Amino acid sequence: MKSDQHVNDPLEEAKRFLMQVSPRPSMVAISGKGSWLTDHAGTAYLDFVQGRGTNALGHCAPELSRAVTMQASTMVNPGSHLYSDQGLQLAKVLAQTSGLDQVFFANSGTEANEAAIKLARKWGRLNGRENPEILVFHDAFHGRSMGSMSASVRPAWDRWFGPLAPGFRAVPFNDLAAVAQAFSPQVAAVLVEPVQGEAGVVLGTQYFLQGLRELCDRNGALLILDEVQTGIGRLGSLFAFQHYGVRPDIVTAGKGLGNGFPISAVLATEAVCVFEHGEHGGTFNGGPLACSVALATLATVDSKPFLNDVRTKGTQLGLRLHSLGEALRCGGAAGIGLMWRMELNQPIASAVVRYAMDGLRADPGWECRGLLLNAPRPNILRFLPALNVSTDEIDLMVDGLRRSIIRVREAGVA
Ligand SMILES: *Cc1c(COP(=O)(O)O)cnc(C)c1O
Repeated sequence: MKSDQHVNDPLEEAKRFLMQVSPRPSMVAISGKGSWLTDHAGTAYLDFVQGRGTNALGHCAPELSRAVTMQASTMVNPGSHLYSDQGLQLAKVLAQTSGLDQVFFANSGTEANEAAIKLARKWGRLNGRENPEILVFHDAFHGRSMGSMSASVRPAWDRWFGPLAPGFRAVPFNDLAAVAQAFSPQVAAVLVEPVQGEAGVVLGTQYFLQGLRELCDRNGALLILDEVQTGIGRLGSLFAFQHYGVRPDIVTAGKGLGNGFPISAVLATEAVCVFEHGEHGGTFNGGPLACSVALATLATVDSKPFLNDVRTKGTQLGLRLHSLGEALRCGGAAGIGLMWRMELNQPIASAVVRYAMDGLRADPGWECRGLLLNAPRPNILRFLPALNVSTDEIDLMVDGLRRSIIRVREAGVA
């Protein structure tokens, strides 16, 4: 499918009319189906980014398109001052499948974390902390609002956007001794990603996450898991905490929950649900359209056979990446479920991403198609395919990755 409005020079129009907040390639995405995305020139790309892991079931999954169409002609926005049928159903499903008690809906991962931070601060005040503090981790990513940005502690951010919100203290990830040392009577919560996604898929160890649970218990503090990226089946369990066997007090979910449609959620144990009327909310929160899409996503993802299949595919992806790393002597791979990283022993990850998108199509084996990959760090590639990606698509991706790494090395570009 071609779009005539954008054929001239999409890059020039983008530069003219859009604030430039991130580098984007000179293609315009037009349509998607499953693991494939098509651009304005009709080029198809095998998509192993999937909107940064938001399209849990790939582009335009039929069950989701149906849910959107049905709900869009039934009721879109009664307003968050009213209950909706879809919102009630989704809250019940999320509470039951997570084992937590109550749910708060929002529209993005950032907003879910913002709500979790507010909840933890209020809970802290109600439980003896005058200045509640939240322990966070080096290289963590929790969002870009004032609060979630302050929790993320990225070195460059405070230069332009400071002063950041106080009340966060950062300690090294996977370092239990450092956390133990950082605890004080003011610490109300520990906020952590079970697997740090934006940092380049850095896996929290079971020892670390279970240790955090114990430290929180010993100090009467809350354990908050940011599962915006790891939740909704990504690791082969509905939530990462089920994989790790660690029960959190608060969990945030987003990304995959709406399969590309904006919706996020905060789930918490009853003791922590301390908001009173007027203390938090949002105009679009828990809208029936978003909730019906999330219900359709969960109806597929939250099943044993589906999650088993995620683990099987994840093993396949991991094995292929490992052997590719060995064959090309370029470094290791690590991951859980369908969240993987591959390390390159040179800072060529961005060049590999560019070649996979633009150069690969000239390769006879690739029949004019491209491959979408993501480079969260100069030497790290991240893979977040659709959870229903096929074994053939995994093999094809690894073939494209192999060709891309070889060509980038040959060309000596970085
Ligand atoms: C993407 C992400 C966020 C931010 O979510 P948005 O929907 O972009 O606001 C927060 N935490 C983690 C772990 C993420 O991966």
